[in-house]
Amino acid sequence: MTDATTDVICPFLIDSGLSRGQAVRLQETLDTIISQHNYPEPIGILIAQSALLTALLASTIKFDGVFTLQIQGQGPVSMLAVDMTADGKMRGYSRFDETAVAEAHKKVLEGRLSPIAGFFSEGTLSFHVEMKDQSYQGITALDQPTLADCVLEYFKQSEQIATALKIEVSTPAQTGKGWIGSALMLQRLPVDKKIAASFSENEIEDLWETAIVLLHSATSKEMLDRELPLEKLLYRLYHANNLHFFIQKAIQFGCRCSKDKVIKMLKSFSEQDRQEMAVNGIIKVDCQFCGKSYTLTLEDLNAEK
Ligand SMILES: [Zn+2]
Repeated sequence: MTDATTDVICPFLIDSGLSRGQAVRLQETLDTIISQHNYPEPIGILIAQSALLTALLASTIKFDGVFTLQIQGQGPVSMLAVDMTADGKMRGYSRFDETAVAEAHKKVLEGRLSPIAGFFSEGTLSFHVEMKDQSYQGITALDQPTLADCVLEYFKQSEQIATALKIEVSTPAQTGKGWIGSALMLQRLPVDKKIAASFSENEIEDLWETAIVLLHSATSKEMLDRELPLEKLLYRLYHANNLHFFIQKAIQFGCRCSKDKVIKMLKSFSEQDRQEMAVNGIIKVDCQFCGKSYTLTLEDLNAEK
């Protein structure tokens, strides 16, 4: 449980369980991920959007391992990944061509290209959930104008779940402080017996339509207001809709890299490959998520069982 107004996710139900929702606001987590890598602003925006989507999507699933959102593109951004553990530790990174990203950013700002077409050209957005004894994967093409639109399309086509989504991100240049982002998501739940008995089909449709209109009535200012608790924001939107909150969960930056994992990874290569990776008998590996550097000698690696 947390009283924080940022770096938190707040799940809720409205209309007697007709729809469920999530509200998320991230600040420090974004600042840490984006500043660690000194990413340019357009990449920062994409990372922020992906981090918000990761938080939303991960909180719709019961899992005990790691939720990963990965985007693979053919354009200036070839790869972007954000993952989050069940206890809210999030990290992310991106691979891109800086000059091409700057050129694409101009075209996107001028409205000549959508963010997806400009930064990724084409490619895929996939989710992967690792659990103790099973895994789950979903994939969708990058064929919509924005990342949020691609996720909406995924829910429509693959899951057939009616979904509404709103994302807002502000850059350090806009806030005068650091990064901040917020997102709201609503999903229609299957109509159970109790709801079917209480509402007519038309009423159910009306409630859903109204809930979407209310979601989009949230202003960027209130979504990004770091003083405004998410519960208060949701109360403003849905106080007349039988709003019910679940326990909020904190999110923070966290990397799971370790010397043991690096050793395990290097030991998956042949001794000859490791020989080729080494400089003066030493292999240096930088974690792509947090930048932490691991230095290992070939002797150590060969000695480790
Ligand atoms: Zn790391």
